Amino acid sequence: MKIDEILKKKRTLSFEVFPPKKGSLGIEKIFKTIDELKALNPDYISVTYGAGGSNRNSNVEIASYIKNQAKIEALAHLTGGPSSYSDIDEIVKKLHSEGIENILALRGDKPIDFNDDYCKTFKHATDLMEYLKDEDFTLAGACYPEGHNECESLYEDLAHMKEKEQAGAKFFVTQVFYDNEYYYRLVSEARKAGIKSPIIPGIMPLVSHKSIPSIKNMCGASIPLDFRNMLEVYKDDPELLEEFGINYAVYQIEDLIAKGAPGIHLYIMNRASIAKKIYERLENVFSKLF
Ligand code: FAD
Repeated sequence: MKIDEILKKKRTLSFEVFPPKKGSLGIEKIFKTIDELKALNPDYISVTYGAGGSNRNSNVEIASYIKNQAKIEALAHLTGGPSSYSDIDEIVKKLHSEGIENILALRGDKPIDFNDDYCKTFKHATDLMEYLKDEDFTLAGACYPEGHNECESLYEDLAHMKEKEQAGAKFFVTQVFYDNEYYYRLVSEARKAGIKSPIIPGIMPLVSHKSIPSIKNMCGASIPLDFRNMLEVYKDDPELLEEFGINYAVYQIEDLIAKGAPGIHLYIMNRASIAKKIYERLENVFSKLF
């Protein structure tokens, strides 16, 4: 089923998984994670795609497992990045043959040694969306509550978000954030700019002190001082740290739901146990309000 159709009827609960680092080694572990996530009744599960297409086979294999074995809707991420038209044609053919109906169309992160030739064909996510628009997929786009790190301002980024909607994005999933006010500002400014599609907040429980620098560097998400202090105080107690991280995510989710978010997308870093702990705390909320 197309995810935009689900969103017309209800709030969605979704999880993100990523393919194992080394080819298909460890793919069985991801399948097991998906089986465990199924018990939490997600509306869909998304699967990431390497920026340079490095894991394209396992991306399709996992999306297919989600859709055809676990019988859950799949959202396959696809990055234009340095791909050629024929690279994208090949992957699109495979996604169609596995019955995948939803694509999160992205440009992909630029490598450190990036030069102007890196994204020749698909310079931006919108180029990939335009290329896919006659294919029978529901397209989604990424958006950034604190603005994308290559943009001068949130407003410049919002103008490009609007172009994504015009290029066919039927809903958006946000980058990670730890201060809900950034999400509310994004939604409010997006509506003023005429963007009408649902904007699904992406929440990543921060359960390890070590992840703090990478969150800041990779996602550009700022971590509120109070929360950072809590993580600092308990940094040598992994069990307590996890508890605090989960509690914080639960608080974020409750606030987002109370203020009308159209769904929750959980970045769970392939850890079904984290998804389960959050689900258990919010089971009543999910069963009544989703
Ligand atoms: P774009 O929309 O192309 O935006 C990139 C930058 O260019 C932004 O600053 C934007 O404002 C600007 N821009 C856009 N259009 C134009 C234009 N026409 N002219 C000038 N500037 C423009 N990365 C992966 O490699 N694999 C994944 O699976 C993956 N999944 C993700 C899922 C989500 C929900 C999110 C939020 C991010 C994900 N990423 C993933 C990271 C993403 O690839 C990076 O954030 C990347 O830097 C930007 O991708 P984009 O699709 O937003 O690009």
